[in-house]
This record gives sequence, C-alpha cells and structure tokens, in this order.
Amino acid sequence: MTRIAEHLSRAQEVVSRCQSLARFTEDPPRICRTFLSPPMRGCHGQIAEWMRPLGMRVTLDAAGNLHGLYPGADGISHRLLIGSHLDTVPDAGAYDGILGVVLAISHIESLEGRRLPFAIEVVGFSEEEGVRFGIPFIGSRALVGRLDAELLGRRDSNGVSIQEAILSYGLQPSEIPAASLQEGVLGYLEFHIEQGPVLEHRELPLAIVEAIAGQTRMELVFTGFANHAGTTPMALRRDALVAAAEWAVAVEKGAREIPGLVATVGTLQAKPGATNVIAGECRATLDVRHASDTARAQSVSGILHSAAEIAKRRGVSLTSSTTFVQAATPMDAFLVSEIDKAISQTGITPYRMVSGAGHDAMVLAEKVASAMVFLRSPGGISHNPKESVLVEDVAKAIECGLHLLDQLAVSPEFQMRAHRA
Ligand SMILES: [Zn+2]
Repeated sequence: MTRIAEHLSRAQEVVSRCQSLARFTEDPPRICRTFLSPPMRGCHGQIAEWMRPLGMRVTLDAAGNLHGLYPGADGISHRLLIGSHLDTVPDAGAYDGILGVVLAISHIESLEGRRLPFAIEVVGFSEEEGVRFGIPFIGSRALVGRLDAELLGRRDSNGVSIQEAILSYGLQPSEIPAASLQEGVLGYLEFHIEQGPVLEHRELPLAIVEAIAGQTRMELVFTGFANHAGTTPMALRRDALVAAAEWAVAVEKGAREIPGLVATVGTLQAKPGATNVIAGECRATLDVRHASDTARAQSVSGILHSAAEIAKRRGVSLTSSTTFVQAATPMDAFLVSEIDKAISQTGITPYRMVSGAGHDAMVLAEKVASAMVFLRSPGGISHNPKESVLVEDVAKAIECGLHLLDQLAVSPEFQMRAHRA
C-alpha cells in the first residue's frame, strides 16, 4: 500500500471507531455521554482495548480521565500529551472531542512500534462540555490542579455532587491531586473539529489554532415605562424593548467593523410581555469574543457606550453587569510554527485561525505549551447529530500529526524543553 492509501485506510478506521463509540450513550439512539455516567465505562473499555495492543499502558485518574502511555526510547520519561474529551452534549454528533482521542491512537498505530525520543501520552478527558454540573473542563482542571473542594461540591440536577459521582464510579477523590501534571510534560496537542464554517468556506481540510478567543459575557437591563399600547402616542413612549433592539442592531454593526470580533445579543426578554402593553423592561445578554484582550475590552466599552447613548435618547434607564470573563489564550508559538510546517508537508496551505470556542487546550495552556489543529466541519455543523468529518481530512490530520512527531523528534528546541522539563 502507498503511504497515502495507508493514511486513508487508517482514516476510515478512525471514522468508524468514532461512530462505534456512539453506542455508549445515556439516551439511545441519540448520543449523550456526560461526566462519569454509566456509558462512559463502556467507552473507556473500548478505547483501552484499542490502546493495549499498541504497547500502551492504560490508566484512569481520579478525575475520570483516561490515559494511555506509549513509551519513548529507552530510559526516557518526558512526554508529549495528545488528547481531547470523551463527554458529549445531549443529542451530540459522533466526533466532537472523541475524534481527537481516536486520532491520537491512530498516530501511535502509524508509528508501527517506532520509539521516539519522548513518550506519547494519549488523554481522553472525562468532561469538557459542562453539561452535567453546569461547569466545563472538569477533566482538564484536574490536570492543572484546579479541581478543588469547592468544585467537587457542585451538584447535578439529581443532587449528586462531583465528589459523589467520582466515588460511585469507583474512583477516589482524595487521589485527585495525584492526577495533576507531573514533571516532564513537553506539551499538549489537541486535534478537534472546527465546529464552524471557516475551513469549509476556505476549502481547507486543516487549520492551526493560534489562539483561543477571550470572552466577556454581560447582562444589560433597559428600564422604560410599561403603558397602554393603544392610548400612548409614539412620541410619548419609553419603550425598553425597542431601545434594546436598537442597541442589538448597533452591536452587530459595530462588530462587523472590527476584524476578528464576534459579538452576540443572544436573548431579549421583555416585560410584562403582552401584545397590548409597551415593554417596561427588557433584559438582554451580550457575548463578545476576540483573540486580543485589548480589542475585546475596547469593543465592550464601545458597546456599553452605545447602549447608554441609545437609552438616554429614548428616556430609558440602563444597568449592566458582567457575568463571565475569560482571557484569550495564545497557543504555544513554537508548536504553532511546527504545526504550520507539518501542514505544509502534507501539501496543504497552512492557515492560522482563532478558536471562538473554548477547549481543553485552553486549560492545559496554563501549565504546558499547548496547541491545536482543527479539521474542517462539513456544513459548519457541530453539537448536532448531523456533525460529520471527511475521511480525506482525517487522513490529512494523520499525515500532519506524523510529520509533526518526526519534526519534534529531531528538533533541538523541543529536546531543550525536555532538558528543562
Ligand atoms: Zn469539543
């Protein structure tokens, strides 16, 4: 078989493996697999069965993350982490997260027993989506030492705490500190579907993620005066809903003028909410994201300024509060440039983009050099059973990963990291 045919056949297997893992679900025939739910056990078992014949040592840490260690050349303890998450949203597709884990196993399979000057540790994170407990990244938080007592006390809708979920899965919460990253980790690499339309639009199979966007989420309340829709002349109204609507249009217009900015008014809730009553109050949410924290801060301040101006002109009062802030996370410059080279090697024009969504790599980047590769999402569809991936793109991801491993194996800079680690 030619090398290309080999990559295609492995890619086909990666796709079928992702589809076969879809059978481990809480809600058949739909895919739903939340933190340490019973189907997660089957998922772990299946993945371990794929790992062991490759000479990988499989373990489960106390936060429910699955680890498969492929040893490096003799006596080498430092390692490169490659992974993604094993949990899903409700009624999910078969590739978000899982693909990155299955691909990593395929990379190791493609090494055909060859040892590198570093070990490879494949990680399947227990939780990234935040579905069961309303907080995301439970798995990766454990690796960076941030799964603390307060978080362990969080309860799901059935009143079960994270701590209790861990215990009932047969794991020991007291061992969580031991799950945190030990010395010798050289970096973290994550392959993930793009979950958006950019690569399809550009007709590219892969992209390098150079940063994960920072976010600001806010709530704004416009307060006018509720009054009779029939008897109050247009000029004498203080309509909170129309003020919020004018502002939402201004948010969209402003965001289009700043490259790389996305700003969304996702909800408008008018009160009292009747056909024949002018809205006296309107609550709005705002979500602003950008790779640059400065650009994001400036745009948030511009958006608030415009809300104040619109409210004043319409005789409506305004309050605002920030509900969530996350700084932008640049990916590791060295790994980004190595991925750039690896993608070139596959004959694809390297394209760098910003991830608008959060990922485990964002959390890992607190402690280790991290980077991501995106695969094209056909139709830009994700978090939906129609989510898919092209076999040819997966083959390119396998090829890109192998080039990257070869480059890192001979990179003086990467070896220097090993000395420091
Ligand atoms: Zn994901």
